[in-house]
Amino acid sequence: MAATIRPMGANEGRVALVTGGNRGIGAACAAALTAAGERVAVASRGGTAPAGMLGVRLDVANSESVDKAFTEIEAELGPVEIVVSNAGIVRDTLLATMSEDAFQEVVDTNLLGAYRVAKRASRPMMRLRRGRLIFISSVVASVGGPGQSNYAASKAGLIGFARSLARELAPRNITSNVVAPGPIRTDMTDALTEAQREQLTAGVPGGRMGEAEDVAALVAFLASPQAGYINGALIPVDGGLSMGH
Ligand code: NDP
Repeated sequence: MAATIRPMGANEGRVALVTGGNRGIGAACAAALTAAGERVAVASRGGTAPAGMLGVRLDVANSESVDKAFTEIEAELGPVEIVVSNAGIVRDTLLATMSEDAFQEVVDTNLLGAYRVAKRASRPMMRLRRGRLIFISSVVASVGGPGQSNYAASKAGLIGFARSLARELAPRNITSNVVAPGPIRTDMTDALTEAQREQLTAGVPGGRMGEAEDVAALVAFLASPQAGYINGALIPVDGGLSMGH
């Protein structure tokens, strides 16, 4: 694994971290960034990574683990210039049966997790005077979802968080943007019943789910030099489900 990673200081490709990059949307983002020539670290609780990428163990629900993962990436690859904050979980249930624990766990991973990662990433980015923060939210943040009050709240929180960072960090040439996928075929949606999947795609004009690569293409663009003047944006990749809202 380490043998295929280009050495630090090679000055050919920036260092990117994709949280939850070992599968699904995160893995597609990691592949797209690698294809764009970036040096990519993928982080998850298991720490596994596709060939050619650095795999690090990271639990976004734990600040120490976040710090340790960044320190490891900095030692192996150099300072992180691109962060794709993608790690996320669901614990769906209707409000009547939603425990405080289920609400808290989802917010702690999806929203506070993004805060922990962005906070650790921001100081080195400020020193570098450049950086890209890309947050993976969800269409559910805008349109809601029955049984997803915890998830929707966490994903909507990301929008205000990212837009505040967009204002705070722009003077240091660090952009902060949000990508809001609609229903995308991954482990997360494979776990749904056929009826739930049909319900999800019913509002999509094309009537189908998207692929992880559809999201990754936008993420790679937002990370690219051409996207330097896009800041504080909320961009859907949802086949028209939200009609841009
Ligand atoms: P998956 O369930 O396939 O993957 C989730 C990823 O997050 C895994 O890599 C998992 O790794 C990682 N993860 C979960 N908890 C933690 C944690 N505490 N610390 C570190 N990593 C963690 O999900 P998707 O690929 O479908 O989703 C990716 C993102 O996109 C999520 O934020 C999701 O909410 C969002 N999204 C997905 C949509 C979809 O339709 N699929 C639609 C809209 C948004 P591991 O378990 O190994 O730690």
